[in-house]
Amino acid sequence: MNFLEVGRQIAALNRLADSYHFDIMDCHFANSFGLPLEFLRQIKSVSSLPIDVHLMVEDVERTVQELLNIGVGTITFPIETVSSNAFSLISRVKSAATNVGIAVNPVTPIEHLKYVLPLIDKVTVMTFDPGVSGQKLVEITLTKVTSLVELRKINDYKYDIEVDGSCNKANFKNMFAAGANQFVVGSSGLFRLHNDIEMAWRKMKEYMND
Ligand code: MG
Repeated sequence: MNFLEVGRQIAALNRLADSYHFDIMDCHFANSFGLPLEFLRQIKSVSSLPIDVHLMVEDVERTVQELLNIGVGTITFPIETVSSNAFSLISRVKSAATNVGIAVNPVTPIEHLKYVLPLIDKVTVMTFDPGVSGQKLVEITLTKVTSLVELRKINDYKYDIEVDGSCNKANFKNMFAAGANQFVVGSSGLFRLHNDIEMAWRKMKEYMND
């Protein structure tokens, strides 16, 4: 977002968007800082849209309870940091009536998700490395999307498939063709298309419809 225009952008996005995607980073798992929880509380106070919180942190446990207290739509964990506590985290979040997503970095094979796929509501396929915006799409990640579609069909799983990273004009078509059904649009996909968020939204939709 343009942080100098946050209030106006949120007011418009409340009417336009399906949900907010809220990145939290710790400067370790992802080499950047994400958004503060105080900002999450503020968005919640002016929006009734679901908020998907995408954790890109090493210490997931630390943040989860706070998120459950605030109340969000979905909490997404990176599979790379929950190898020792994935099942307990999933059941904890589920029992708080909150959806669970699992994110998978470009370098991680989806075989690592095998045992959690039956339990989760969303898989977030990272289409570039977390924490660095403005990277190019890592093309091979779209084959993971296709494989996830097949696995969902064969096993009658229920998860959504989200793509995160470089969701923009150049890639919408291939991402959609691969089978993604949720798109995280950031600077290249939405915010940089026009200074006026409504105009930017219209452009983005044109590109998506193409
Ligand atoms: Mg994200």
